[in-house]
Amino acid sequence: MTSYNVDPRRPWAEWYVALGWKVFKLARDDPGGKKPHKNCDRCAPGSSSYEPHDAETCRCLLCHGFYAATDDVGRVDLMLQVPPTTGLSVRTGRASGVVVLDVEHEGLDLLDQWEQLNGWSLPRTLTARSVSGGLHLWFRYPANAAVSSGELEPGLIDVASDGHYVGVPSGDGRRKWLDTSVAVATMPDGLIRLLTGPRRARVRSGTGTAGSAAGGGGPLPPTDDFEAHGLGWFTGSRNKDAYRLAFRLWSEDRVESEVKTILRRCWNATSQQPHPFTWSEAWRTAQSAQGRQRDARNEELASARAFLARWRG
Ligand SMILES: [Zn+2]
Ligand SMILES: [Zn+2]
Repeated sequence: MTSYNVDPRRPWAEWYVALGWKVFKLARDDPGGKKPHKNCDRCAPGSSSYEPHDAETCRCLLCHGFYAATDDVGRVDLMLQVPPTTGLSVRTGRASGVVVLDVEHEGLDLLDQWEQLNGWSLPRTLTARSVSGGLHLWFRYPANAAVSSGELEPGLIDVASDGHYVGVPSGDGRRKWLDTSVAVATMPDGLIRLLTGPRRARVRSGTGTAGSAAGGGGPLPPTDDFEAHGLGWFTGSRNKDAYRLAFRLWSEDRVESEVKTILRRCWNATSQQPHPFTWSEAWRTAQSAQGRQRDARNEELASARAFLARWRG
């Protein structure tokens, strides 16, 4: 009997391979995070049966994280048979010929204003809606430049390139291509310059300064300035600077009502041109900064505890 049950991930895997991308299956892909499969004993440094070898040429099906990624559909088929039934991921960078701009939900405002900020616009390119509600913009890896992975705008736009991987739509509806008929665009020179130059404050290069407004990619003014002088957020980076200020306020252990009062004052002083930045948007941004600040603190606590445990023996 022929089985007509096709694994919903299979056609996607085939398409990705046809695009020249290297694909592998994740071990975990849920709101808690995505993780590659664990290494087998022979491939796990620290295990007694570990044998040092090159991850790139290792023949294990799912070891070494993104190094497992392959453009051999037969191998992907084998991966799909390994439990659990999790999503696919693509190794980014030169290996697959792609660079992905990972724009967090909070960074969409920045993307909206890209042309105004940079003086040139991003071309239409293959784009996916990410699990977190942000966007993944796919570009061809440039022929004559090396693009490293890292932050383009901290907390807002990440670059997935060499040594990285991103989750891709795999038929479960959690990630989604906006329009599969759109081709992966070549990177405009301006983007190559942004991604290969020093990373920081560069998205904002070319913008003027705006009178009484604060932030705008430079260091964030002292909180007192916001409080005492009623500074608003710079038009090119309202969302981002609201986020930065909120993050700082949460880090200072201020109570919510106080954070709200300070942010509200800034928001009142902020221009609503060329398009509105509503208070509810600003407060959402502040809440996501709070979440991130908590995560950062928990990580700090965890590493401090681990250190103490080791120290006590
Ligand atoms: Zn292995
Ligand atoms: Zn190995």
